[in-house]
Amino acid sequence: MAFKGVCVRHKANHGGGSYTLRYAEGQKRCQVCQIYLIWQTNNYCPCCGNKLRIKLREGELKLRCDEIIRQRKEQITTAITL
Ligand SMILES: [Zn+2]
Repeated sequence: MAFKGVCVRHKANHGGGSYTLRYAEGQKRCQVCQIYLIWQTNNYCPCCGNKLRIKLREGELKLRCDEIIRQRKEQITTAITL
């Protein structure tokens, strides 16, 4: 009965912010309940126990990877041109 109730209590405000902004504010996403939570205790959903998504770190990592790939491509292109 109170299954969804726990989630709703921690549900993050929509606020119209971007995804990046949501995660930057410490909001976490539960894929099972399909809501954003402000839940600092741990990385698990307080109601369903599913591991919450904190996408900012992944995003940062991906951005860094893309940067490295781009730089390598530039180096290769420069080498071919020369
Ligand atoms: Zn959940």
